[in-house]
Amino acid sequence: MAKTSELRKQYEEFLNTLDKQTKKKFLNAMKKLTHAHYNWEDDLRLENALKNQWEKKDTSVSEFSDLNLYFLKEDEPQDELPIPKAATATQETIDEYFMRLALKEAVQAYREDEVPVGAVLVSPDGDVWATAHNTAEHGLHAMAHAETVAMSVAAISLQQKRLWDCTLYVTLEPCAMCAAAMTHMRIKRLVYGASNPKGGAVENGVRFFESSSCNHRPLITKGILCDECGDLLTAFFRSKR
Ligand code: ZN
Repeated sequence: MAKTSELRKQYEEFLNTLDKQTKKKFLNAMKKLTHAHYNWEDDLRLENALKNQWEKKDTSVSEFSDLNLYFLKEDEPQDELPIPKAATATQETIDEYFMRLALKEAVQAYREDEVPVGAVLVSPDGDVWATAHNTAEHGLHAMAHAETVAMSVAAISLQQKRLWDCTLYVTLEPCAMCAAAMTHMRIKRLVYGASNPKGGAVENGVRFFESSSCNHRPLITKGILCDECGDLLTAFFRSKR
């Protein structure tokens, strides 16, 4: 089976052969069909299968519908994921597990035409207290980033002013607003996927947690499932070009 990088190369080469309008049409077809599954490697294989169909038939979007079956998987409950057993699981396995849940939220954001970022708030006992995705474009307001929504949902539903000892998982390096919000909420640990050189404020930009305005700094782990988290964002912005 071809490697992800080879598939990606083939796919990019194929995109370059299309004129602007056809490319837009093709990417819209992709978007309808390929965004629902969080295993990005599978998505790339599917993109190539679709690409081959497209080349053969130069066909309309509806003729791809048989491939929709593939995406029925998306509606399977989240507990399909192997739940790490506390006694044997390493921290990395646990982090990957919760990051996959966050990634599922990011995929949901993608489907809603939002910048695909997802977050999961985990309690001190390892329970999921909230899952959320970015709704800044089509939600209530522009502050509705995945992290702030997840923290708000947990705090309001549990009637807790602060989220002591909780871990926040997010697919993208948080912005300055979300980093400051984590300090206010006293998040114990922040785990994120992809780095964000343009808008991030943890390892990039203002590096909020290292600044003198920060009076509570969470423990930070970065780079969990960073390729998958980043690829989803790349695909989103590519579809906007
Ligand atoms: Zn943010």
